[in-house]
Amino acid sequence: ESLTALRVTGNCLRHDLMQNGEASTAYDPWAIDETSLKIMERLGEGRYGEVNKALYTDPLSEDVPRVVAVKQLKQIKCESRNLATIMDEMRNEMEIMKSLVHPNIVETVGICVDPVPLLVMEFVENGALNAYLRHHQHALQTFQLLAFAKDVANGMVYLHSKDIVHRDLAARNILVSEDLRVKISDFGLARFLEVPGGYYMTQHFGRDVPLAWYAPEVIEFHKYSAKSDIWSFGVLLWEMFSFAAAPYFCDLRVLSERLRQGQRLPQPPACPPSLYVVMQRCWAFEAAHRPDFKELLDNLTALFE
Ligand code: ADP
Ligand code: MG
Repeated sequence: ESLTALRVTGNCLRHDLMQNGEASTAYDPWAIDETSLKIMERLGEGRYGEVNKALYTDPLSEDVPRVVAVKQLKQIKCESRNLATIMDEMRNEMEIMKSLVHPNIVETVGICVDPVPLLVMEFVENGALNAYLRHHQHALQTFQLLAFAKDVANGMVYLHSKDIVHRDLAARNILVSEDLRVKISDFGLARFLEVPGGYYMTQHFGRDVPLAWYAPEVIEFHKYSAKSDIWSFGVLLWEMFSFAAAPYFCDLRVLSERLRQGQRLPQPPACPPSLYVVMQRCWAFEAAHRPDFKELLDNLTALFE
């Protein structure tokens, strides 16, 4: 039953892409044929995706197969309304990812829509940052954590320069490479801003919202902007220096009231005071009082010295 749902999703997705004039040309540089992928083990799963390691053989080159990561919809219950939303999310994610080329953003290798939608990405060897932090907490030194933070800030300068907001910046969505550089991933919630430097608003929250990473204006008005990504980055810094401990979890109203009163996450024991100051600047109640990523990058660079 769920395979049928995935097939329908694939068809709708292809139909949409064709309407946008993208798949109508004879050669689509992103198109990947499912038969050129050999799926291997499970790497992880999240809100709606399941990600598997795979081998990709490019039919146009004689190279050895490339190791990739393939994201597809989790086996879902066939409820058509749900499916439509999830499909929107995946199509959006593919569109955004195709427009991004940066060393601190996970690379898109290609896209497959038939028979089921698949997003093919570079394989990032050390997996999600939250798990990496937990497993290596006794070996990780301040300079390495700061280097992670700078990498993310670098990728975010690029993302915001394209007027895209990420909306789900958290350690679970950052990947760690073999040479310990980090890359931003999971663009399922990312959005193009219609007005440069503007904001994106929703009517209500979707499923499983990452409340603990949200700025006050997101919790209260569902208003997302570059500055709400900055708030989430502050929480991501906090996760780094607390080795992926879970931030506070409480009811939406309680959280909103606490933030309004000025309560914030505490300084983690491993966090230098000068870095806690940076976190607190990201958590300024007024969005306009928060720094942007260029400024943060300068702050983080200065902390290295
Ligand atoms: P979701 O949208 O469902 O949250 P994600 O894109 O966050 O899915 O991926 C879920 C998990 O899969 C990540 O937390 C990570 O562990 C793993 N993963 C995702 N992409 C890759 C990749 N390119 N290389 C290695 N592991 C990955
Ligand atoms: Mg995720």
